[in-house]
Amino acid sequence: MATVQTTMAPDAGRAANTDFDVVVIGAGFGGLAALKELRGRGFNVRVVDAAPEVGGTWYWNRYPGLRVDSESRIFCYSTDPELLEEWDWHERFPAQPEVLKYLCHVADRYDLRKDMDLNTRVEAARYDQDSGRWTVFLEGKGSYTCQFLLGATGVLSIPMEPNIPGLDTFKGEWYLTAKWPEKEPDLHGKRVGIIGTGATAVQVIPLVSAIASELTVFQRTPNYVLPARNYPIDAMTRRSIKDNYDALWGMVRENPGGWAFPPADRNFDDFSPEERERICEAAWEVGSMGLMVSTFADLMTNMEANTFVSDFVRRKIRMQVNDPAVAKVLCPEKDNPIGVKRVPLGHQYYEAFNRDNVNLVDVSANAIECITPEGVRLADGTSHDLDVIIFALGYDAFTGALSKIDIRSTSGESINERWSEGAVTYQSVAMNGFPNFFMVGGPQIPIANFVPTLEAIAVYLSETLCIMRDKGIKSVEVKPEAVDRYVEHMHELTDVTLFREAKRLRSWFQGANKEGKPDAPLLHYGGLPMFLADLEAEKDAGFPSYVFE
Ligand code: NAP
Repeated sequence: MATVQTTMAPDAGRAANTDFDVVVIGAGFGGLAALKELRGRGFNVRVVDAAPEVGGTWYWNRYPGLRVDSESRIFCYSTDPELLEEWDWHERFPAQPEVLKYLCHVADRYDLRKDMDLNTRVEAARYDQDSGRWTVFLEGKGSYTCQFLLGATGVLSIPMEPNIPGLDTFKGEWYLTAKWPEKEPDLHGKRVGIIGTGATAVQVIPLVSAIASELTVFQRTPNYVLPARNYPIDAMTRRSIKDNYDALWGMVRENPGGWAFPPADRNFDDFSPEERERICEAAWEVGSMGLMVSTFADLMTNMEANTFVSDFVRRKIRMQVNDPAVAKVLCPEKDNPIGVKRVPLGHQYYEAFNRDNVNLVDVSANAIECITPEGVRLADGTSHDLDVIIFALGYDAFTGALSKIDIRSTSGESINERWSEGAVTYQSVAMNGFPNFFMVGGPQIPIANFVPTLEAIAVYLSETLCIMRDKGIKSVEVKPEAVDRYVEHMHELTDVTLFREAKRLRSWFQGANKEGKPDAPLLHYGGLPMFLADLEAEKDAGFPSYVFE
């Protein structure tokens, strides 16, 4: 068993009691839900997070333009009607400060902070088979022990760092969107370059285009950006949302994407070209993810359906961009099915490219070669002089955060080693060899609105741990064959959907955005209802996939 080398200064700023029923790593949406649900069921819980405030990725991310890409009415916790009644969202897609304020409100409302160590990093954890307990090592603060350890470390929390040669020689300023400084950099009148055109950059570009003297967008792969259609929520709309919450959450649980849209229960082939166009047009007008989740049930399984919708969006892009040459570069290629990469929501995104001060540079065939003291140089020798470079390069999704913590299995294997050939889990919540360890937001959760998904998992795990406690169980571990079965199921779902194209398209869904990351499904492509039904089935059957001691 590997030993833990840690700088331990016992009792330095942590709880006096050091033994808990459950330790939760992470105080974002998943960790807060776990604490609230577990404490409500009588567990003695401690949450540990490296940040000075709750919020997880919503604490760290504060780049200009950051808004939630899910509708606020369903980007919140659902289990407490009083919380739903008292909290007022002000926009359909609120900006980051409002989301963070919501999470702080939740922490205060349920007095969650008394069971938390902020500014505290978990560096390692070891399981003792004799006692059935974990020892959790905190950087510089000693250790805790607990029966159950929960990883709620975030699905998109470890940003991809820029490793472009020459960055250290750059004379200007540079920023990574996921580590945006608290003191807002002044971009007024500056020549700004942004590298990346994923969901993050799509939010940054319109704002920066309005204040920079010049904005140069370096695009490797264009995206299908759908109109968010944000609006302020007035008192009447808010009342109607609150009065209809039961129906809304019902819809969320029935919709494969966890959205408050009725599931698209119609197949593409059943409609004429005119009807298909009308269906797409209506979804486009509604905005949000409507086009993805409410048009055709077979959008991600039927290439013909997908091509129709992709063509529809390409036409819309051409309508929004004045210069046909620019529009051509912004249109995804024909062999790039919509939805295989996460579709960003735009707030005047394409309109930004109509501004005289915005310059789109296609780096798909002419890659960024290096950063020079003056700016960015491409493979063909072209140079772009810049005062500021913004990197929006994405995340080491799902596996990044947990792999960084030295959590070992009973045979001494780290999580990083376990996932070296691809993420393996059982129902996203458990791994064999790691008894009494569960994940809230582990790899292979459904490709769905994450907040309702994480909350459902937190509720499920709290109920599960209650059952374990009531049975007086010392340890619980998933069977290896159950993990194999689940992972095989993830591969099958990949193969029967268009997500099989994810690797070719460098999608983070398949770990393909990070060089050297194994090609394996990080998401469950069967949708939220299937995932939730399978979790319930496991519980109802008395947890046949687990062994108990
Ligand atoms: P992303 O979608 O992975 O995009 C990263 C971008 O960087 C891509 O355009 C990629 O190009 C580009 N890139 C990487 N290395 C490059 C290089 N060497 N040269 C040129 N371009 C390079 O990352 P993201 O935009 O941060 O979004 C990640 C996820 O976070 C989203 O999919 C979404 O789930 C979540 N997110 C949510 C919200 C929200 O809810 N408000 C907002 C932002 C993000 P290629 O495509 O060619 O690889």
